[in-house]
Amino acid sequence: ESYINNIKANNHLNAFLEVFAEDALVQAAALDHARINGAPLGKLHGVVVALKDVICYKGHQVSAASKILAHFTSIYNATATEHLLAEGAIIIGRNNCDEFAMGSSSENSAFGIVKNLIDETRVPGGSSGGSAVAVQADLCMVSLGSDTGGSVRQPADFCGIVGLKPSYGRVSRYGLIAYASSFDQIGIFSKNVADAALVLEVIAGADDYDSTASQKPVSNYSEQLADTSKKYRFAYFKETLNHKGLDAEIAAALHTTIANLQAKGHTVEAIDFNMLDYVVPTYYILTTAEASSNLSRYDGVKFGYRAQLSADDDLTELYKKTRSEAFGKEVQRRILLGTFVLSAGYFDAYFTKAQQVRQLLAQTTTHIFANYDAIISPTVPTTAFKIGEKSNDPIEMFLGDIYTVFANLVGIPAISIPLFTHSNGMPFGVQIMTGHYEEATLLNIAATIN
Ligand code: GLN
Repeated sequence: ESYINNIKANNHLNAFLEVFAEDALVQAAALDHARINGAPLGKLHGVVVALKDVICYKGHQVSAASKILAHFTSIYNATATEHLLAEGAIIIGRNNCDEFAMGSSSENSAFGIVKNLIDETRVPGGSSGGSAVAVQADLCMVSLGSDTGGSVRQPADFCGIVGLKPSYGRVSRYGLIAYASSFDQIGIFSKNVADAALVLEVIAGADDYDSTASQKPVSNYSEQLADTSKKYRFAYFKETLNHKGLDAEIAAALHTTIANLQAKGHTVEAIDFNMLDYVVPTYYILTTAEASSNLSRYDGVKFGYRAQLSADDDLTELYKKTRSEAFGKEVQRRILLGTFVLSAGYFDAYFTKAQQVRQLLAQTTTHIFANYDAIISPTVPTTAFKIGEKSNDPIEMFLGDIYTVFANLVGIPAISIPLFTHSNGMPFGVQIMTGHYEEATLLNIAATIN
């Protein structure tokens, strides 16, 4: 009840598209009843969780913050949702986000913008902005978002909380509405590293419904946080801290953090990367290509929105009208871009080339983690920007993803944890990345730094 009241009191932040108030209270009562009767308690007994509006919850609406899926009801649970419920979590509602998780500011939702609690004239980041604000403003205890190129880590950074993107394949994508399938991963927002570790061990694991979910056993991540005495070997990319777009105060804070780690006996070394300028173009070529294919299912026939037709409209008109009316501007831009890079005349120049860069990045990653435990970098080059400041400049918006897309391109886990407060009053974080399926190391390092 307290969380439901808090959500109502903070309605103007627009973090929730729907509150499952009645259901949540019924669930809470049932959990309480089970506890009183001595039933064994789940790992998340009574934990209040919110879901980004791209994660399916049986019998509840899920819209990807898009008009094309408005009023669509899911007929099954995402595997992550299933795991949460099995461990006693209470699902309190669905969070606003950028339409189909495309964006960095939560300004692309068909249902209004989300505001940052710390400064309501600023964005909370995106695309999982509503899920970040839900944790930031105590509207739930933890929330699930999705991270295709930074959509959990960047809003966590902008809101002063923890954001974890697991390795590609660590958490099943079954029941996660697809944006770019070879990048998408469900992630976690929390107020501290221990909560993220606990939720990860609940939602991670193999799944017969997702062949890309790893068979590797899931460790008890939350139990491996206690030992903060380990000494690690960190690398950072020289280009990252010298980058012209990086805010001077964020750069200075990173240098201080590096010096502190060294003073505590960790090794931190600068390495050449040389590919920083290619990661954003590569990311946007490959993700828009995958999106153009994934979003072709919204055709006005199978489900969701269907345009009103006139008597002489044929099937092509049905597609055209439906998709023009119900997809927002950013989603349309990306479908066009993706269709272009996949088209016969341009496939080799763009799509094939981007795949080659991705391959090169994968090789570089293997090389780095043969010598280091982790990579340290800023999460975002700036703090949360003003609402409307970048919405007319898509390129400028895309470039803000420069530090986060790498982890998705190569599939490694990454976390953003709060670092300092900028002189403009906004928080910012530091990002840690480790090798594939090295979540235990990642979380242990995060707990050590935090
Ligand atoms: N900002 C990035 C984009 O717009 C990341 C989105 C995401 O991770 N879902 O694609």
